[in-house]
Amino acid sequence: MQIHEIARRWNAFFEKNSHSVVPSASLVSPDPSLLFTVAGMVPFIPYFLGQQTPPHDRAVSVQKCIRTADIEEVGKTARHGTFFQMAGNFSFGDYFKEGAITMAWELLTTSQADGGYGLDPERLWATVYEEDDEAYAIWRDVVGIPEARLQRIGKEDNYWHTGQPGPGGPCSEIFYDRGPQYGNDGGPAADDTRYLEIWNLVFMQYQLGDVRSQDDFDIVGELANKNIDTGMGLERLAMILQGVENMYETDQVRPVLDRAAELAGVTYTSTEDPEDANFSNDMRLRYVADHVRSALMLISDGVVPSNEGGGYVLRRLIRRAVRAMRLMGVVSAVLPELLPISRDAMRGNYPEVSEDFDRIARIAYAEERAFLRTIAAGTTRLESSVAQAREAGATLSGDAAFELHDTYGFPIDLTLEMAEEAGVSVDQDKFVELMQEQRQRARNDAKAKKTGHADTSLYYEAHAGQDTVFTGYTEHTTQSHI
Ligand code: ATP
Ligand code: MG
Ligand code: MG
Ligand code: MG
Repeated sequence: MQIHEIARRWNAFFEKNSHSVVPSASLVSPDPSLLFTVAGMVPFIPYFLGQQTPPHDRAVSVQKCIRTADIEEVGKTARHGTFFQMAGNFSFGDYFKEGAITMAWELLTTSQADGGYGLDPERLWATVYEEDDEAYAIWRDVVGIPEARLQRIGKEDNYWHTGQPGPGGPCSEIFYDRGPQYGNDGGPAADDTRYLEIWNLVFMQYQLGDVRSQDDFDIVGELANKNIDTGMGLERLAMILQGVENMYETDQVRPVLDRAAELAGVTYTSTEDPEDANFSNDMRLRYVADHVRSALMLISDGVVPSNEGGGYVLRRLIRRAVRAMRLMGVVSAVLPELLPISRDAMRGNYPEVSEDFDRIARIAYAEERAFLRTIAAGTTRLESSVAQAREAGATLSGDAAFELHDTYGFPIDLTLEMAEEAGVSVDQDKFVELMQEQRQRARNDAKAKKTGHADTSLYYEAHAGQDTVFTGYTEHTTQSHI
């Protein structure tokens, strides 16, 4: 079943159950505290916070999402994309736990002939928050899932809140058992590779007071209007329904992966074993396909490459893709080959990527050309510095990294990644010190402000755990739904 059809059935099922169909909002977050839309609930935040009255009690959507916090996982795990589509159903003070759980179960297990997804119920597991006896009882008694496939999990994974005083509540997640060849049989609490998380149900139940951390907060009362927020990854369900190993092999992504392999003259072997000789190329092909799609969708939603905010994320995605292709031996421009393939894979769901393709392509190709010029100038230099460092058994000095950045405009993330791949570490403390000195000089010297050097501070922010661009939301909040 293609993603297009998975999405269609989603909307049809919830529409039949009295939900209003709401089109996807932009990837550029409608909520000012977030850079990108990271979950299906983001466009509904004002309703959940009680700032606006929702025009309907029940809504359904398939929301385009970007999670840059997952970038390091992309291609390594089977299930993380920077871009993905989160299907969701929402109740604003209407149905609560029982409605959410029973509808989820019905849609997943109803046969495909009858409009469902036809998953084998024996392969489905559910987790609930450890103190949520109510959800536990619904799964056991109403749905009838055997207790052997029902697990209680702590706040780390099964509690949602915004990190601030406001609504919060327990979650219940649905997992699909991919089979013993993927890991041990301890259930989702023990293994997140064999048991693939597909759907998160959030029960907004309480008013929270002081929130000190993900698992340390005060509950000050029950919400007058209890809400439901759910999120199901279309690509994850597609992995199962298409019988492929990972989300990069599903119908909207795979064509780009195949073209990238062809360009590089390598064979994709689908391995997820880091010990396997093909792993690095396979992983690169997977994240190239992911990043090209994310770039397409971001530019389509109005993002342009720059040195800050969303523009920097886009720039980094394009650069990572280009560089991965380069590491597989492709030195010419790759986006003119890959972007049209991604467009063709996405146009069925998002006709705007076709209609606006001239503009999208112009922006993307110009960015790649500029990056190729930068790489050409810096790579030779970096390679000799790295070789010297390796011979001396030393780290690459902060001065060398700084010079590459300062004189050649060579991005520090590239220096770090290329050095790491050559088994050489970089004296980052010194680099940061030199950057700070430079910033100080720039502040002292008005003229220096006009030199136009790339600002790398965002790179460091983007690596301080959760992207700091997601202001106001902690990493755990992101993981447990937002
Ligand atoms: P995981 O634990 O696998 O990282 P999560 O708990 O962070 O997932 P949620 O925040 O609960 O994910 O999001 C709801 C659903 O969205 C998930 O159950 C999953 O199906 C999907 N999803 C989340 N992150 C991604 C991603 N990076 N790529 C593809 N699908 C995703
Ligand atoms: Mg999770
Ligand atoms: Mg996650
Ligand atoms: Mg989750």
